[in-house]
Amino acid sequence: MIAALCMGIAFAAAAETVTTGPVEPVADKFLFTEGPVWLPSGELAFSDIPKNRIYKIDKTVFREPSNNSNGLALDPQGRLIACEHGSRSVTRTETDGKMTTLASAFEGKKLNSPNDVIVRSDGTIFFTDPPYAIKKEQQELAFQGVFAIAPDGKLSAIARDFNKPNGIGLSPDEKTLYVADTEGNHVRAFDLAKDGSVSNGRVFCEVPGPDGLKVDQKGYVWCTAKDGVRVMNPKGELVSTVAVPQQSANCAFGDADGKTLYITARTGLYKVRCVTPGLGFPPGK
Ligand code: MG
Repeated sequence: MIAALCMGIAFAAAAETVTTGPVEPVADKFLFTEGPVWLPSGELAFSDIPKNRIYKIDKTVFREPSNNSNGLALDPQGRLIACEHGSRSVTRTETDGKMTTLASAFEGKKLNSPNDVIVRSDGTIFFTDPPYAIKKEQQELAFQGVFAIAPDGKLSAIARDFNKPNGIGLSPDEKTLYVADTEGNHVRAFDLAKDGSVSNGRVFCEVPGPDGLKVDQKGYVWCTAKDGVRVMNPKGELVSTVAVPQQSANCAFGDADGKTLYITARTGLYKVRCVTPGLGFPPGK
């Protein structure tokens, strides 16, 4: 094992049972599904990026146009936070339905195309900003960063050395921030300070083409990848790979007990029952 570590070879811990049933199709015939989030109303919402809509699980339209929303999350008040490709911004939907733009530019330059988002319990919003939805000549920022929006609204770049920052999540104690680097084929972990700054960036695990990720109540990281949803223990060791019929792009825990993982995968939406509930369940906890 020491030799493997020294050589930088990824190795897995013993396989663990993390699901309790098969991966089941829920709905299909979308264009490209992303951004699943379990709403306070007790239903799932998710983005169809090219369709310019946010759907609910019964295929009714939650929002149109969605400004080509991608990653979605809730803040502590249950308000929807959206990464929007079309507007190149991060928005919040107020309780009266009005939209507030939280971030669209940094130091006078437009954001690239905010991709995915997580909100800490104090209201700090962390999001990734790869350039997937813009042409090279449209890119104004000189880097592809990870940003924090403080509760007072101040935007700061907390990491600038990513290739393609993508999925983002927090450990149960909110002291570790996880960020997927899709083209780097790994997930990075950072020590996260109260002020939203990060330090001690390191490779948490190697993953082929990681995209969206979520964390469960045991601190296991569920990361969508080219070969399914990879599940890592808090040490970053692979314990399971959940195969999905289409390439998965994101996932979210849902249902009343938080033990169903919903997976957005290209034209489809899938689900699988899990051993451990996701963070944030029961809602409001
Ligand atoms: Mg993504």
